[in-house]
Amino acid sequence: MRQRWVIGNWKMHGRRQQNAQLIHEIISVPLWPGLCVAVAPPAIYLQQVHELLIGSGVVLAAQMVSEYEQGAHTGQCAAGMLADMGVQLVLAGHSECRHAGQTDAQVALQVKRVLEQGMSVVLCVGETLEQHERGETLDVVRKQLEVIAGLGAEVANRLLLAYEPVWAIGTGRVASPGHAQWVHQALRSTLAKSLGEPWAMTPILYGGSVKADNAAELLSQLDVDGVLVGGASLKASEFLSLCRLAAQAR
Ligand code: PEP
Repeated sequence: MRQRWVIGNWKMHGRRQQNAQLIHEIISVPLWPGLCVAVAPPAIYLQQVHELLIGSGVVLAAQMVSEYEQGAHTGQCAAGMLADMGVQLVLAGHSECRHAGQTDAQVALQVKRVLEQGMSVVLCVGETLEQHERGETLDVVRKQLEVIAGLGAEVANRLLLAYEPVWAIGTGRVASPGHAQWVHQALRSTLAKSLGEPWAMTPILYGGSVKADNAAELLSQLDVDGVLVGGASLKASEFLSLCRLAAQAR
């Protein structure tokens, strides 16, 4: 059975008091069997959220990481620093970072750094609206997937993928369950063909305007192993509903 996940990406939202309230509500509910739950607060609040999560079983995630190990890189966080803060999971290649200029070469290095530090990585892939309309979706996501070429089977259980169509992120326009399944299945077979069978077990999450009222059918798709959630992760009741749906799906 593939691991199922719900990951909340808080983006640049939150203040100490709001974070404490949100985490308090999330961890007041017992974890669902078979479901991994993670939250990715802004880097400056990692320490606070780490302390709030102790003993809860909820995974601390980071939204981004530097491609450098250390040095004169003002404002950046190295993978070793994230691991030092208790981070277990790191997003790489989020479309908002790609939009700000991040390249596949940088994403490839970020993935490498995260894995070297013993953490897990969520590689985000997805096509823009123009690429979608030109019918280039699979070409684009397969190209983005090339950053993991050459990874050894020993790290296969520390990779997650998130298919996040750029046209669906923060727009309220969610991909149809059929479209998500089509892309997820293509990603899974590309992984297995290019890297080998262990990679067919890679959890592949969908992200893009997911809410409790549109998630059930997405989560029932054969190759959708969970959701990466932005806006809807900021409200505990909504986030917890998504966790319940993900745990009960299939
Ligand atoms: C995201 O930031 O990864 C995301 C999916 O955002 P939203 O759910 O707000 O579309």
